[in-house]
Amino acid sequence: MADLHLFNSLTRKLERFEPVHPGEARVYTCGPTVYNYPHIGNMRAYVFADVLGRTLSWKGYKLTHVINITDVGHLTDDADSGEDKLEKAAAGTDKSIWDIARHYTEAYWADVKALNIRQPAHWSVATDYIEPMLEFAKSIADKHCYELESGLYFDVSTVEDYGRLARAVTEEGEGRIEAVEGKRNAADFAIWRKTPPGEKRQMEWDSPWGRGAPGWHLECSVMGEKLLGFPFDIHTGGIDHREIHHPNEIAQNQAFCGCGGLSDAMNSGARIWMHNNFLVERSGKMSKSSGEFLRLQLLIEKGYHPLAYRMMCLQAHYRSELEFSWQGLGAALTRLKRMVMQAERLKEAEASIPDHPKFAALLEKFDAAMSDDLNTAIALTALEEALAVKKVDAGIKRAVVERMDSVLGLGLMDLARQDLRIRPENAEITEGEIEDALARRKEARAAKDFATSDAIRDELYAKGVEVMDGDPLGWEWSLEERG
Ligand code: AMP
Ligand code: ZN
Repeated sequence: MADLHLFNSLTRKLERFEPVHPGEARVYTCGPTVYNYPHIGNMRAYVFADVLGRTLSWKGYKLTHVINITDVGHLTDDADSGEDKLEKAAAGTDKSIWDIARHYTEAYWADVKALNIRQPAHWSVATDYIEPMLEFAKSIADKHCYELESGLYFDVSTVEDYGRLARAVTEEGEGRIEAVEGKRNAADFAIWRKTPPGEKRQMEWDSPWGRGAPGWHLECSVMGEKLLGFPFDIHTGGIDHREIHHPNEIAQNQAFCGCGGLSDAMNSGARIWMHNNFLVERSGKMSKSSGEFLRLQLLIEKGYHPLAYRMMCLQAHYRSELEFSWQGLGAALTRLKRMVMQAERLKEAEASIPDHPKFAALLEKFDAAMSDDLNTAIALTALEEALAVKKVDAGIKRAVVERMDSVLGLGLMDLARQDLRIRPENAEITEGEIEDALARRKEARAAKDFATSDAIRDELYAKGVEVMDGDPLGWEWSLEERG
């Protein structure tokens, strides 16, 4: 196998992966803030982390993966202004914050499952770690923090190299961060936020700095340290986290670890920091704040299998921006369907050892692609080439396909082509009715009664069903979304 190389945002270089603990890989992924449904852009971050985890397993490392659930502390702005996202979501409803957090955590888990994202070793929930957060904060408070009326703040000038991860801590960059009166540096951030006098929050705890709630960045430092130990191997998140959340986590970690500079990556808490680029959508409908937004469930309602979205993610490199379009999703679905049709022929075969020169070369190509900073786009072509190899034992082919798919996670051996049919939920006709009509049409054609055959076709068309005679992909028919 090739050496695994990953792009480290901290050094802005491709680096050879060398585990901190031999034979192991410990990964922390910043998870969702559960005040609303995740949009498909958010889910790109977890597909990426999943592919990373699967690749580490493919390479033989024993993987420990943590994904946290943020149910407290994340303000409406990533810096220290605005309200707590969960407190805001609960205000004006008859639901408690805890109910809201549970509801959206479950919705997120449903998306995780639908996208074949593997379960991490730990789903760590921020509010389960309040005590350790207080301990962590106490241990750095004297040397690195100061108290203001609104809470306890971290003084970023007390650590070397603050903001190196973001590479842009200029006065101009800091201008984005809303001033809190009394802050020593614009980039200083809250470790603990006191509940303002006269207010009551649903989520608040006692602390040496008054009753209140932890700052958002604290939870990830603490859960990473508790569950994986400093330093661990890899920390992941979306590219927006490279600017504020992760530099602040790193500063806390440096303070906790005795304050070494970042020229030794060990001092940042994690050796490698990886960031996925954004999924973008021109109309801006993805954003959670603008009302309707692109959820995985919306794709499903329009009839797309969720794994078509996974395919769409895999077709791009995780560090490239990916533009969402329905057309692009349709193309990804067609590609997935081609693969599923080829894999269907292997279902009867029993997987056997893949010792065949053609497959050895393809497995090597696949491994080289994944080892090159997770180049899933090339890896997909290796999988397609493997599926297309002719005149080989089906069992051997099956074993190769399963191996590659263990990394890509498309679930090819579990899908059937019918699963991928476009099925909008608001269709005016059931599949049974379509199949009946098509059977009648077949009979009419066999009897050379083309008038009846055409009439049935038109009837179906009026109900949104397009009949696709002789379609090479074997779709036979497709349903258009109505309204
Ligand atoms: P949040 O729930 O807002 O904390 O975000 C969850 C994850 O999604 C974080 O890792 C974000 O960096 C990431 N993220 C947010 N928007 C996008 C997007 N449009 N594309 C890809 N990742 C995103
Ligand atoms: Zn985080």
